[in-house]
Amino acid sequence: MSEKFDVIVVGAGPAGTACAYVCAKKGLNVLLIERGEYPGSKNVMGGVLYRKQLEDIIPEFWKEAPLERPVIEQRFWMMDKESVIQFGYKGLEWGEEPYNNFTVLRAQFDQWFAKKAVEAGALLINETVVKECIVENGKVIGVRTDRPDGELFANVVVLADGVNSLLGKQLGFHKEFRPDEVALTVMEVINLPKDKINDRFNLSENQGCTIEIFGDSTKGNLGTAFLYTNKESLNIGVGTTLSSMTKAKLKPYELLDYLKTHPMVKPYLEGGESSEYLAHLIPEGGYRSVPKVAGNGVVAIGDAAQLVNAIHREGSNMAMASGKMAAETIILANAEGNFSESSLNRYREALYESFIIKDLEKYKDAAHTFEKHPQYFNDYVPMMNRAASKFFTVDGTPKREKQKEIMRSITKEKGSIKVLQDLYRAWKAVK
Ligand code: FAD
Repeated sequence: MSEKFDVIVVGAGPAGTACAYVCAKKGLNVLLIERGEYPGSKNVMGGVLYRKQLEDIIPEFWKEAPLERPVIEQRFWMMDKESVIQFGYKGLEWGEEPYNNFTVLRAQFDQWFAKKAVEAGALLINETVVKECIVENGKVIGVRTDRPDGELFANVVVLADGVNSLLGKQLGFHKEFRPDEVALTVMEVINLPKDKINDRFNLSENQGCTIEIFGDSTKGNLGTAFLYTNKESLNIGVGTTLSSMTKAKLKPYELLDYLKTHPMVKPYLEGGESSEYLAHLIPEGGYRSVPKVAGNGVVAIGDAAQLVNAIHREGSNMAMASGKMAAETIILANAEGNFSESSLNRYREALYESFIIKDLEKYKDAAHTFEKHPQYFNDYVPMMNRAASKFFTVDGTPKREKQKEIMRSITKEKGSIKVLQDLYRAWKAVK
């Protein structure tokens, strides 16, 4: 086969499908190539899908998409070995239209989304691996696949091939990522009857809850764990950067086992049956790791462009928003018949003016700071737990005296200057 398309999109994850959908809707001749047996078959996500960026593409998608539960509560845990400090937000408004976000199972969601792109006119081919981009005179003119006679041509090739974008590397958009730029996350889907989930998480019908867990969930290393509610299952997972994992000699599956048997977590899972075990990388390099995103006849979107805000666990929304921005640029380029780097760079400009790069820029020092100074997860989380235990234990000590005791023990352990320095550094990293 040696057909020519307006656009070839490599990868039918949220980024690629969003781009294919928007281009196809405008009448462009789009080919969407996916290596998996079907879209979503190879994809992994903790499971929170944000409403806004998908609604910008498919209004009121929640009326037909295969969603699990609208999230009405987000909890955050600072967990020690036998205790936890909890805070969060629960709002019933998030359980009503237009909602805030939803839990999803990617195998189902990605298939639905790709079907929408096909209905809009895109051609989807599964079980096809793009081996490389075809480059002629410095311009990407197509892709070479693993199919016999598998060369396909297009005015623009969209790299939506995910975190470890081999195609981006082939084109020199980025180098091999460093171990501190990617996190390895393992997760399990645990089946549990709906009533049990509702009781344990204090939810009513069609309400969901997410819990992000810091501290002992990663044995004090930089990283997080999560526990999310689906209709009749829970997603539980944990991840740290590859560099933290190597330094602390952690094995990802051991970390997940540790989390599942942790006394604060175990009661939520009791009686559940594991139905899936998944592992995947997350690009967590942030602002400084964003590679080149546009070249002659080519753009990179989603995880392939490192667009993940790890602090807010936003990735799928950035993938879709970047896919849409790239599509809008391609539509303009198509109208002008100009697919040069300078023409496609309008996508880069849109990206840098959007919430995506602004948010990544805001947190550009966060991961590095917390990895370099492990005391935040190692020392302060247990310290906060001890302080809470002391403060809330009713033992006849006056509260003011308790406050002083807590301050004394913290400054004795760390030194007041050190505490102030740590607080200032943390504030600077996330301000
Ligand atoms: P992907 O979803 O990775 O899709 C890439 C697609 O390209 C895949 O279908 C793959 O099979 C295909 N592909 C790759 N190479 C080729 C090739 N050569 N030829 C053909 N096809 C190819 N984000 C959130 O918003 N909320 C969360 O709760 C959340 N939790 C997460 C939890 C975990 C454990 C992980 C790993 C990630 C999580 N993320 C979350 C991040 C989110 O999953 C990603 O940011 C998002 O999936 C990126 O979409 P994408 O389309 O760029 O890449």
